[in-house]
Amino acid sequence: MTNDVDPDCIFCKIVGGELPSDRLYEDQDVLVFKDISPQAPFHGIIIPKSHIATLNDLRDEQAELMGRFFVIARDLALEHDLPGYRVVINTNSEGGQVVFHVHMHLLGGRQMQATLG
Ligand code: 5GP
Ligand code: ZN
Repeated sequence: MTNDVDPDCIFCKIVGGELPSDRLYEDQDVLVFKDISPQAPFHGIIIPKSHIATLNDLRDEQAELMGRFFVIARDLALEHDLPGYRVVINTNSEGGQVVFHVHMHLLGGRQMQATLG
């Protein structure tokens, strides 16, 4: 099966190897790489290899794919000795989304504040 690709999307370019990234995890459908501008000592970006612009564009039958993001986040947190961590999916510009290829931030390695900005 081939992935949907948006040729103008930087995360699709990372999936395709056109842009470099520090890869943390990869399987057939999911890629995790280090954020280029980390907001915490550990900052991973979890993405589907297929181009899905935002959470709003997720089809019902892709629910299992996104569900796996949580399992991958849990395993990476264990692997990287993160006693606590935060996962975030910014959606649309009003939600703070800058890159329009759906992604989950995995942040850890520092004390997170209870308030969300
Ligand atoms: P958003 O604000 O869309 O939720 O988050 C996008 C994230 O992607 C930001 O944290 C930003 O630092 C990261 N990012 C943007 N461009 C690149 C890139 O070319 N490489 C990597 N590794 N991360 C990127
Ligand atoms: Zn994309």
